[in-house]
Amino acid sequence: MSMISLIKSREILDSRGNPTIEVDVTVNNHKYTAAVPSGASTGTHEALELRDQNSKRYGGKGVLKAVNNVEKKLAPLLIGKVNCIQQKKIDDLMLKADGTSNKSKLGANAILGVSLACARAGAGESGKELYQYVHSLLPTKTNSKISLPRPFFNVINGGMHAGNSLPFQEFMISPQAKTFREALRIGAEVYHTLKGIIAKKYGKLATNVGDEGGFAPPIRTAEEGLELLIKAINKSGYSGKVDIAMDCAASEFYKNGSYYAPKKMTSGQLVNYYLKLLKKYPIISIEDPFEQEDFQSYAKLRKRSEKSGIQIVGDDLTVTNVDRIKTAIQEKSCNCLLLKVNQIGTLTEALQAVALAYSAGWKVMVSHRSGETEDTFIADLAVGIGCGMIKSGAPCRGERTAKYNRLLRIEEELNK
Ligand code: PEP
Ligand code: MG
Repeated sequence: MSMISLIKSREILDSRGNPTIEVDVTVNNHKYTAAVPSGASTGTHEALELRDQNSKRYGGKGVLKAVNNVEKKLAPLLIGKVNCIQQKKIDDLMLKADGTSNKSKLGANAILGVSLACARAGAGESGKELYQYVHSLLPTKTNSKISLPRPFFNVINGGMHAGNSLPFQEFMISPQAKTFREALRIGAEVYHTLKGIIAKKYGKLATNVGDEGGFAPPIRTAEEGLELLIKAINKSGYSGKVDIAMDCAASEFYKNGSYYAPKKMTSGQLVNYYLKLLKKYPIISIEDPFEQEDFQSYAKLRKRSEKSGIQIVGDDLTVTNVDRIKTAIQEKSCNCLLLKVNQIGTLTEALQAVALAYSAGWKVMVSHRSGETEDTFIADLAVGIGCGMIKSGAPCRGERTAKYNRLLRIEEELNK
């Protein structure tokens, strides 16, 4: 039997130097650990990240209440009562104990830490790699296969992730390559070429990096960012072999019915602006092009860009939540789900979101958060659900490369 015998939790630091929660689950004297990431451009419909609000510690951002909830409220529900391979039962028990729609009683961070550490325990105790175990947890009608994802490297940072005045949050490059290893190499090469181009044009200071490891040059428009990417791709010798993706995170530049991108625009003007960009640049994916309540404008862009086969990705719009995803399916707002486990708070619910997205014919892209830890869970998640896409920032900064490096190891193992 693989009963959970101990659950411990602690406050650790994330990549922005803010506290976050880590959980250890012990089974058969083996300890399994998971840590929870944290967003900056968070969607208003995300599950609640419980913070202490005690201004005397970490500027109010401490997570000791969440730590306490793990050890005093969640641990007693599970210790000696459930087998670690009963992921759904574990998650259901925690959901019931919380009893709120957004996990505001116990905190989605507390619940997710336990959920992910239990999944690691389930994998370990059943002698499986985490990605194999995640695959086995997917609802059976989901026809996906274990596979390596294509990486999307966020190499220019703006919005809430950088100190520049660029409204759009992420400019990503995604190499077309036969293997993950090759994609990573091409991504890193273009990244370094881009660094040289930015240093030459804006000075060395402009090559300081933002929260996700991308550069944050003093640019203001999407065109300036896209031109820099095209130059870097061409100069590296990969013209036509590297695609571009954007995460606009448009809720962050939306105010009182208008978008500031940086020019003031209506949602209709913004649709036309995106269509213009799509014509001019090799963009294959646009995430959160409009603010998080505007399902209709997403649908307009999706319809008008249908012929180009472009991917319209819901992040703040859908927040890994089956109810919001159902609305987006009905409204035909997107054709791809951004999957962030901490937006919803349990692995089981995240996998239900994946199954729903797949059943609607959507694609899925697994995502990190801008505040990350060294935990590599999402690398295994992307392989296990076989979604074919991951974004984990630039090929730079340890908390980002940890995921890419884990994928290199998985690739090696799968090719044995
Ligand atoms: C995103 O918006 O896709 C993202 C990764 O940023 P954050 O974690 O700040 O929401
Ligand atoms: Mg996003």
